Amino acid sequence: MKENCIFCKIASGEIPSKTIYENHEFRVILDINPASKGHALIIPKEHYNDIYELPEEVAGHAMILAKKLAAHMTKVLNCDGFNILQNNGEVAGQTVFHFHMHLLPRYDKDGNQDKLCFNHLDLSQEELEEICQKLQQ
Ligand code: AMP
Ligand code: ZN
Repeated sequence: MKENCIFCKIASGEIPSKTIYENHEFRVILDINPASKGHALIIPKEHYNDIYELPEEVAGHAMILAKKLAAHMTKVLNCDGFNILQNNGEVAGQTVFHFHMHLLPRYDKDGNQDKLCFNHLDLSQEELEEICQKLQQ
């Protein structure tokens, strides 16, 4: 547990939360500032700042849990689609520096953009090739 980490305190139960699921490794809570009805967060009970620190085994379990909850939540909430999001670093929108995955049920006309809102770059074939080669290393 990391001192002064709000998600460590929530995961351990020290701070109460709207918990929808819990096991030995994770607590899943409703987001306090939901982007849609049912917006939830998968929070590991151990502290990892972000995906770079997350052990592969925990990452695997988190994804399996996300898959199970997506199915369960879709059935119970009767939502029309589902986003699974995960932010790393301030520049990528991370505001709580304890790894978490967003489970975001989506509804027809829920007021959010259909597509997550990113600008699109107009890269040349040469630039794409350069990036591709760098990433293959
Ligand atoms: P991120 O921007 O990916 O770091 O997401 C952090 C999320 O945590 C935001 O959606 C917040 O609304 C949510 N959040 C922050 N504090 C709490 C809290 N005490 N209980 C539940 N959700 C929280
Ligand atoms: Zn923490």
